Amino acid sequence: MARPHGRRAPEREPRRPPLPSVGEGGQDSKARVFLHAGRARPLWFGHPWVYANAIDRVEGDCGPGDVVSLCDHDGRLIGRGFYNPRSQIPVRLCTRADEPVHAGFLRARIQRAHALRARLGLPSAATSIYRLVNSEGDDLPGLVVDVFGDAAVVQLTTLGLAQRRAAIFDAVETVLAPKTIYEASPAGYAELEGFEAASRVARGASRATVAGVEDGIHLEIEPLSGQKTGMFIDQRETRIRVGQLARGARVLDCYAYAGGFGLQAARGGAAAVTAVDSSARAVARIEAHAARNGATINAVEADAFRFLETATPRSFDLIVIDPPKFARARKDLEAARKGYERLNALALSAAAPGAILVTCSCSQNVDADTFERIVAAGAKQAGRPLQIIERRGPASDHPMPPGFTEGQYLKVLIAYVY
Ligand code: SAH
Repeated sequence: MARPHGRRAPEREPRRPPLPSVGEGGQDSKARVFLHAGRARPLWFGHPWVYANAIDRVEGDCGPGDVVSLCDHDGRLIGRGFYNPRSQIPVRLCTRADEPVHAGFLRARIQRAHALRARLGLPSAATSIYRLVNSEGDDLPGLVVDVFGDAAVVQLTTLGLAQRRAAIFDAVETVLAPKTIYEASPAGYAELEGFEAASRVARGASRATVAGVEDGIHLEIEPLSGQKTGMFIDQRETRIRVGQLARGARVLDCYAYAGGFGLQAARGGAAAVTAVDSSARAVARIEAHAARNGATINAVEADAFRFLETATPRSFDLIVIDPPKFARARKDLEAARKGYERLNALALSAAAPGAILVTCSCSQNVDADTFERIVAAGAKQAGRPLQIIERRGPASDHPMPPGFTEGQYLKVLIAYVY
């Protein structure tokens, strides 16, 4: 990025330094990062992030991606983590002990994550799709590993872990022995952190699609051309819940993606299922999934707002709305609030008396209380009072450190509408 001072740049000098290539390792440095007085408390209690403005000074040599020790103002060791001075979060902790962070450490962390999933009964005969590693929640900030049957999809979002890709793939091979390891590291984070994004088969058999099963429902996933790692695993337990609430209901699944909610509802005895998504690809996927699982789903390619605006009022008994995030940044908050309020009002107008509304928000910037107030405002706008019957979050294979509010993105409210 910055050119050496006092020298004129040679003509063809690249604008940025070369990015670290695959497998190039960050060092486990001796450097220590000291916090300002009064800034250590959340970190002592389990928060994994150090914001730039909390840092007093760095002692010792360390480069981007290296592991550093984090100390409070008095020099007491809080833990160790990955360093990236280019980020607004220059240190992300991965351990609370004074221990080296090397390939063996990464393998042990992934084994620990695997043990938690085993404790949760994952995988099982009914479910082969689950999250093996959930970033900060498994003390590996910047690493997500999703498992789809005999394939694993690795998503890297921090420089420190991107530099240790090879060791991560080795560890995933040791723990799971998957037929294919994909890497799906999104460009946005890679650009922010300073490494090369990737969407590729990293190890093993090259396949465009892989098969998996979620609570007995057969799904096909495209790890490299779908969204995120190919599927929204975080909603699994809520999809199962929807299946339990669907008997006899006329069901509407808005923002359906792979059709997971609608498929559960169909199996749960729904009278009819309509699934709406604005993507033609999603609609084709839903149709294929319905056929594969012997379900009847009316898949409609439409904008969810437009669909709801023209839907027959009071014609659905169970409505799911699971939109993409409306608030990407704080500045989007007001527009997002209006969007969620209108969407919920429209959904409530389409709800029959005695219907159940399952309404979701995955905007990290909209907290749970705010979301509940927005839904209440939507109910007021539609003139349809509701009772909250459940508050839910991501499935249990998405653990989080205590007090890490930045990680609490997914909110789900289930309400009874009269
Ligand atoms: N409910 C899904 C996940 C939804 S992801 C599940 O359980 O797996 C969000 C989906 O919303 C994506 O499939 C995207 O194509 C769709 N989408 C985005 N904007 C939309 C819009 N305006 N109208 C309808 N669908 C939209």
